[in-house]
Amino acid sequence: MTTAIARTTHVAARSRAHGPTAALWHAVEVHRDPAEVDGACELTLCGSLARVTVEQAWPVAERDVCVSCVVLSS
Ligand SMILES: [Zn+2]
Repeated sequence: MTTAIARTTHVAARSRAHGPTAALWHAVEVHRDPAEVDGACELTLCGSLARVTVEQAWPVAERDVCVSCVVLSS
């Protein structure tokens, strides 16, 4: 049995609208204080880039949420 050293948390990140792709909420995995990544452009769970918004908790209770990130973060 192993003991987890650091707890993995997910923060919400907003991607930008790109061509036909609408802006979506994605999840970003963080291993440190989420305040340190606030406003930063990070790689999301689904592999795209989005800007971290710590004011918005993950999971996001919105309709425009990335389905891949929801599945990957659960
Ligand atoms: Zn995503």
